[in-house]
Amino acid sequence: MLKKFERYPLMFGPTPIEKLNRLSESLGGNIELYAKREDCNSGLAFGGNKIRKLEYIVPDAIASNADTLVSIGGVQSNHTRQVAAVAAKIGMKCLLVQESWVPFQDAVYDRVGNILMSRVMGAEINFVEEGFDIGIRESWERALEEVKAKGGKPYAIPAGASVHKYGGLGYVGFAEEVRQQEADLGFKFDFIIVCTVTGSTHAGMSVGFSKDGRARNVIGIDASATPEQTKVQVHSIAQQTAELVELGREITADDIVLVEDYAYPAYGIPSEATNEAIRLCARMEGMMTDPVYEGKSMQGLIDLVRKDYFPDGSKVLYAHLGGVPAINAYSYIYRNG
Ligand SMILES: *Cc1c(COP(=O)(O)O)cnc(C)c1O
Repeated sequence: MLKKFERYPLMFGPTPIEKLNRLSESLGGNIELYAKREDCNSGLAFGGNKIRKLEYIVPDAIASNADTLVSIGGVQSNHTRQVAAVAAKIGMKCLLVQESWVPFQDAVYDRVGNILMSRVMGAEINFVEEGFDIGIRESWERALEEVKAKGGKPYAIPAGASVHKYGGLGYVGFAEEVRQQEADLGFKFDFIIVCTVTGSTHAGMSVGFSKDGRARNVIGIDASATPEQTKVQVHSIAQQTAELVELGREITADDIVLVEDYAYPAYGIPSEATNEAIRLCARMEGMMTDPVYEGKSMQGLIDLVRKDYFPDGSKVLYAHLGGVPAINAYSYIYRNG
């Protein structure tokens, strides 16, 4: 589906699929759980899902003759850390707008984890007092002007690399990769679980899996806590991506499954159930998840298994999208494990 698009390799290659035997057993053993390890996809500053998206965006950035990648996220954004790593790798400068998306106070919240790495990799950082919003921001427009005023040539990458014409392509590629791996494994996954916030990961998967009629088998777990806006954004990115790859059919609002029950109490704040899910997964599998994104989709996966959402015998693929560095900014919550 992606042959006509240029890709700049940033990942090690196809990501491994790992069976989660002990987690499956601990939840009753009726459902087979697997994880696709997007969290281990690259050597670029711990990798993650934005690296897969950026493979299809970097060729456009290079072709534009830009010298600075400009992007935006919260203070502990995984996305901005991955943009900083990619900028270093391709020899561009990097300007990051870090907004106050998360109402959380840990003594070292703005020192450790993602933002620590972005600083070490040489990104310039602008802190802005703005709350959470997945849309296009004024502070970001200002950052682009700032680069131009200094004689630079900015290349704009929106929050989560989502609302970008090529933002959905990486996860169309994920679906193709899974199909290849399914051919080797000799079975197909019945459900794919994905954490959804800015939307292009879910949208790309919806397009990629709709090729073999599985769009609705992609179960998005909302972590934005603004699910209406997120669902509209997933749908619009999916429609635009479907057209771009010439899917040959429309993606309807009905094709997008978004479960809204696990994002509480707010974006970036884990509930007690999120923390229990993070601990269970860590203790059963040695697989770390974070309190902002993957802990919430893990919580959703565990709860849906316990609620018999999946028919017995289902094979469920959890897309682990990365994000573990952020847990360092929540040290007080996990001070006793
Ligand atoms: C960005 C991110 C997500 C959400 O992906 P979107 O494409 O923004 O919906 C999920 N998990 C992690 C670890 C992320 O960094």
